Amino acid sequence: MQAPNVYDADPIPAEALAEIERLFTNGDLFRYTSEDAPVALLEQEFAALMGSKYALAVASCSAALFLSLKALGLPRGARVLIPAFTFAAVPSAVVHADCTPVLVEVAENYRIDLADFEAKLAAGAEAVLISHMRGHTSDMDAILALAEAHGVPVIEDAAHSLGTLWHGRRIGTLGKVGCFSFQSYKMVNAGEGGILVTDDDDLIARAVIMSGAYEHNWKKHPVVQARFAHWQNRLPLYNTRLSNLAAAVIRPQLALLEERVRKGRANHDYVAARLNTSPALHVPPPLPGETRAPDSIQFNLRGLTAAQADAFARAAKARGVSVQIFGRSSDNARAFWNWRFLAEVPELPKTRAMLMNACDVRLPARLTRDELDVIAGALLDAAEEATGGVPDAA
Ligand SMILES: *Cc1c(COP(=O)(O)O)cnc(C)c1O
Repeated sequence: MQAPNVYDADPIPAEALAEIERLFTNGDLFRYTSEDAPVALLEQEFAALMGSKYALAVASCSAALFLSLKALGLPRGARVLIPAFTFAAVPSAVVHADCTPVLVEVAENYRIDLADFEAKLAAGAEAVLISHMRGHTSDMDAILALAEAHGVPVIEDAAHSLGTLWHGRRIGTLGKVGCFSFQSYKMVNAGEGGILVTDDDDLIARAVIMSGAYEHNWKKHPVVQARFAHWQNRLPLYNTRLSNLAAAVIRPQLALLEERVRKGRANHDYVAARLNTSPALHVPPPLPGETRAPDSIQFNLRGLTAAQADAFARAAKARGVSVQIFGRSSDNARAFWNWRFLAEVPELPKTRAMLMNACDVRLPARLTRDELDVIAGALLDAAEEATGGVPDAA
């Protein structure tokens, strides 16, 4: 049996097509031409799903992160803590919001190093942006308590964490504001799109206006209106709204979420158990209290030399399975040393060591048990081949 193509997207539910036909007939693609536009309905449905007071749909998760920082009213140059293991779009959103990203070390288990977090918080930060990279949740109890003790707001980048729970609470609803992505490689695929959720009256009013609710378009948001009049004409309009077409594609997928999460987790845990039978491969377990919603698997190479790591990736590829070792593929957007647009790229030995051994394989929820076995078997065989069956002691 051949390795499955893990890059193919899932089909979009047929209901979306009927709605798109309706939108094509009346041409109503702009969210503010009617009050019950698909984008407005998506916001209501998403807020209800998350148990949040407010939701604002925008062009991308990056736009949601940018607007969150702007809506917090941070001063120019404000220091924003972010994990050093994330996608380049995250430090970019901080730079875009005229703030200064401060990179925090990430441990071998892909979670934020709390000692470094605490030290950098104590050294001075105006906000914390927790990126749950690849859906891995850091210790949010500790992070929220430390941020609160320092009086610093927490933004959650939950782009890749839709459906993840922390002690039964939804990731993205723990901080002051949570941001999600509807880009194609996330749990809900609209090609592009993002959404933020919050319970904060003032933050949502500011974010709605800045997203491009010019003049009195904010009246079409069925949320508390008092703060809007206050901010009228006092904020820039960044025009990063979502189109009704994207909302039509997203809405029917929300009903599929729980099933995708359940299957994705089962797939991940099945492959993880098989990979952990190899002394050369290690899948870090979830933190206690974390219920994951993975659509990919990350694992560390253990005791392999650089040459063996490259041989492992080649041997997996020869068996039809693409493995990305974050720190070893050139120009990788998730390797912090490639973020040369930053004023200063710090040296972070812990995160660097992790990235040099951390592997990434997509594992979409639709895969069958047989397909998972092909992937797991290929990775195990590749590890055996690369190490000659006997990895060096770590
Ligand atoms: C995908 C992703 C983003 C960016 O989302 P966009 O909607 O493409 O802007 C940010 N952070 C993480 C962790 C992501 O996985």
